[in-house]
Amino acid sequence: RPPAADQPTIFDKIVSKKIPATILFEDSTALAFKDISPQAPVHFLVIPKKKTGLTGSPSKKSFKRATEWSSMMARTDARQSSTSTCMCWEGASLKQPWADTEACLLAPGQSVFHVHLHVLGGKQLGWPPC
Ligand code: 5GP
Repeated sequence: RPPAADQPTIFDKIVSKKIPATILFEDSTALAFKDISPQAPVHFLVIPKKKTGLTGSPSKKSFKRATEWSSMMARTDARQSSTSTCMCWEGASLKQPWADTEACLLAPGQSVFHVHLHVLGGKQLGWPPC
């Protein structure tokens, strides 16, 4: 059961630097950092800094920015590792997440209610990839 919309998550504390994380990229709207429990040699999370709404869905601008960052980093990692890279948004519609923030959904098994993109790579990934 998801928490109330205004309930801060652990990711808010990472955004505000109250708890440490290995930050890979940051700008005014989006943040990328290594997952604390990596499931592949490359495993990082990309989040919009500002979460709003029950699912933690972001503004269109910050979602677009996070999407741009994650695509760019996934391409970089795919080049470095020469194996598959998986990108999997949690808490968001995969259809057009940047165009329709109302479509954000909860993912099965989601534990952090702040929309986030998992980027995994550095090894051959199976199917389904996540
Ligand atoms: P979910 O469980 O929603 O699919 O994904 C949340 C992800 O956040 C998990 O992969 C988990 O390892 C990661 N995570 C949870 N807490 C922290 C934390 O404090 N720091 C970092 N860097 N990652 C975290």
